[in-house]
Amino acid sequence: MSLNKQHDVIIVGGGLVGASLACALADVNVDCALVESTPFGLDDQPSYDERTVALTHSSRQIFTGIGVWNEIAEHDATAITAIHVSDKGHFGHSVLSCTDVGTDALGFVVPHRVLGKVFYQQIQARSAVTLYSPATATTIDPSTELSTVTLNDGVKLDARLVVIADGGRSGLAQSLGMRGRGRDYRQQALIATLTTDRDPAGLAFERFTSSGPLALLPAGDHRYVMAWTLEPDEIPAMIDGTDDVFLAKLQQTIGRRAGRFTNTSARRAYPLRLHQLTTPVATRAVAIGNAAHTVHPVAGQGFNLGLRDVAALADVLYEATVQGGDIGDRTLLRRYASGRKSDTRSVGWITDGLIRAFANDSIPLAVARNGGLSAINLLPAARRALLRQTMGLNAATSTLALGLPLGSPTRPVL
Ligand SMILES: Cc1cc2nc3c(=O)[nH]c(=O)nc-3n(C[C@H](O)[C@H](O)[C@H](O)COP(=O)(O)OP(=O)(O)OC[C@H]3O[C@@H](n4cnc5c(N)ncnc54)[C@H](O)[C@@H]3O)c2cc1C
Repeated sequence: MSLNKQHDVIIVGGGLVGASLACALADVNVDCALVESTPFGLDDQPSYDERTVALTHSSRQIFTGIGVWNEIAEHDATAITAIHVSDKGHFGHSVLSCTDVGTDALGFVVPHRVLGKVFYQQIQARSAVTLYSPATATTIDPSTELSTVTLNDGVKLDARLVVIADGGRSGLAQSLGMRGRGRDYRQQALIATLTTDRDPAGLAFERFTSSGPLALLPAGDHRYVMAWTLEPDEIPAMIDGTDDVFLAKLQQTIGRRAGRFTNTSARRAYPLRLHQLTTPVATRAVAIGNAAHTVHPVAGQGFNLGLRDVAALADVLYEATVQGGDIGDRTLLRRYASGRKSDTRSVGWITDGLIRAFANDSIPLAVARNGGLSAINLLPAARRALLRQTMGLNAATSTLALGLPLGSPTRPVL
């Protein structure tokens, strides 16, 4: 008999995605080990940093199902009720509103650090989760019955299933033979929090510029959070230059739509890439979240997509547990992966398509995309279709996405 510590599931990575899965599975008493290199609450925690995330309506539902939404909302969640989309230097624009899809909000803006705080409290309150942190998973050794994860301090953990939620940061998925494809955008996203003289009142902006999209999301009283895609050589001046010079450049790009900017936080930059694993499944292992797919942050889709992985995987694992099956069974994992394929591909296709279409300054393309923006503005059906996809409402329904707890007697039949 193995002397290693035993769990049902080992989750490698306690970032946004891994921590969400741990909370979901612990609610139905699946014994989870959550391995995280950087402790929750540290300033340099890479998942719970200075960013804010735009959560879709479907993500709010999933968090409601996991039982963490109320706490998140009590801390800090600003509703987005409409988005103004425009193309700098061209005529087309579109306004997408929550009334187009009959919801009270298109999404919610939540600071990553708030999510980290809530997850940490929730994990401590759930006895079915054992947190190994700081601890780094260095190897995964799968065998017929179990997978063994070795930590950097030599501790070994066994489980029927290892979920890789490392954000694609450790190479563990590749070490198990999971292969992928993608490309480097050779661009970076600059983020900052801004104060303006106008109350955002729930209105977000997405402005396409020749270097890339500029997003402004409402973040409470007279505040916006910004994600601005720029060429790498533009970044140092934006970060190291004075606040006044940065604000003047920003104001010139967005105009006065969001009011006059009066203050800014320090700026930080993130490199951007597109990547997708061809298959996120190996023997007794599955990759989810950014470990399985990384997309451009335009339209704020990456984590929302990862959270839908969590909801779908949680459903499959819960059913296997209830039926006394093997939660690491490859057929089961393949069923999960095949259910996620279409959503993952659509999001990759839409985000990459937007970047390509708006990055090109050719006159026919500019006319076509501005005609498209105007058409979307005029056609309610087109607005609805676009919003349903970006709000995650078209993805296959899972128990959590219906806002129900995993063990709910009214959960959908898989
Ligand atoms: C500028 C920017 C803006 C964005 N805005 C949005 C948005 O508005 N909406 C949206 O949906 N998405 C957005 N995203 C995407 C979103 O941030 C990611 O999809 C999300 O952070 C992925 O979460 P994750 O848990 O999969 O990975 P990560 O956040 O990368 O977390 C992985 C975790 O695993 C840990 N780890 C790694 N290797 C190991 C190991 N070997 N052992 C133990 N622990 C390990 C790391 O320490 C980390 O905590 C944005 C991204 C960027 C760059």
